[in-house]
Amino acid sequence: MIKGDIILKARKEQSLLRFHPWVFSGAIGGQVNFQEGDFVRVVAASGQILGYGHFTPNTSIAVRLTHFGNEEPSENWIRERLQSAYDLREQIGLADNPNTNTYRLVHAEGDLLPGLIIDHYDGVFVIQAHSSGMYQLRHKISEALQEIYGNRCKAVFDKSAETLAKSKLVAENGYLFGSSPETHQAKENGLEFRIDWEGGQKTGFFIDQRESRKLLGEMSKGKSVLNTFSYTGGFSLYALQSGATKVHSLDSSARALEIANENAALNGYSDRHDIIQADAVQYLKNLGEEYDIIVLDPPAFAKHLSARHQAVQGYKRINSLAMRQMKPGGLLFTFSCSQAVDKQLFNSTIVAAAIEAGRKVRILHQLHQPADHPVSAFHPEGEYLKGLVVRVD
Ligand code: SAH
Repeated sequence: MIKGDIILKARKEQSLLRFHPWVFSGAIGGQVNFQEGDFVRVVAASGQILGYGHFTPNTSIAVRLTHFGNEEPSENWIRERLQSAYDLREQIGLADNPNTNTYRLVHAEGDLLPGLIIDHYDGVFVIQAHSSGMYQLRHKISEALQEIYGNRCKAVFDKSAETLAKSKLVAENGYLFGSSPETHQAKENGLEFRIDWEGGQKTGFFIDQRESRKLLGEMSKGKSVLNTFSYTGGFSLYALQSGATKVHSLDSSARALEIANENAALNGYSDRHDIIQADAVQYLKNLGEEYDIIVLDPPAFAKHLSARHQAVQGYKRINSLAMRQMKPGGLLFTFSCSQAVDKQLFNSTIVAAAIEAGRKVRILHQLHQPADHPVSAFHPEGEYLKGLVVRVD
């Protein structure tokens, strides 16, 4: 299983000794002759064994460590890690919850499984590998899921074609176990959602906003709500459920909005819900109507550190546009899922947006990803989602 050693340059072992799981290509000394996805041992220049992990050529993160120190990986390590991920979901009340059968089972580094995302939708598992090493383990992963969940496991769908678009190893998405069920549906806090894991964005649903959506629900009674970047209407449904007078879901994707409409119908709220297909920035610029609550949940503006400055400008712009149009006393739920924009930078960006809009703003809540998206204390990069609820006066 272990293909050989990768030797680091002198003094490049420090972060690995602190359990940060990435080896950057610049830290490697000498020639490396491994194949994409190989499982390798990482050794310091001094000869000290630092750990084991998956190798990826021609990228900045050359090895993602799954094991630290000289503890040799067991034959069954992937099964053991998945079991431990399951145990955590059980501990936080998600594994067997009649109201919520939608949760993230594996959050990469946060579950000691770098390069792997698994989302669970009522017995259907959607796998996205972000490393070829994890991709090569997909059948083992699928078998382990069947063992852990028994007959609660209905299907396992591999959706790595997009996340590993550059890899030569990945052909197309498909079922590793079971087949496409008749209904593609799951529950979150008692609401029914249609989830298109085969054709939708990412794994089909943005599970990471579950708790923020619930909070919005608690504040929406009797209010008018504009949900921009709505995707399939996650936030909209919570607002409708709690008695919002009208809710508009705005997205650039016609397909996402079609499902948002289906979701409103599925839960019996069509009469108070409308969709708007538009570019959010253009729409906010010309907003003629006033809302009590606006949600801004854009896709990641900065995928890399190099794009950070531009991303900040983008966040400032949409937030100041939204604030400018808010009814006095209105609430803005604003988010960033860019890893490269941290909590502090996001907060300062919102302050800058308020200054630009000429509005007084108070922070009511600081939001982040829920517990089924755990963050390793040694890998702070895992904390990617941040949000603020602000009152705009
Ligand atoms: N809030 C959603 C998730 C949002 S994901 C939820 O709770 O499920 C980001 C969404 O932004 C995607 O649906 C994408 O189609 C949409 N999007 C991307 N660029 C956009 C733009 N310029 N204008 C409007 N929507 C956009």
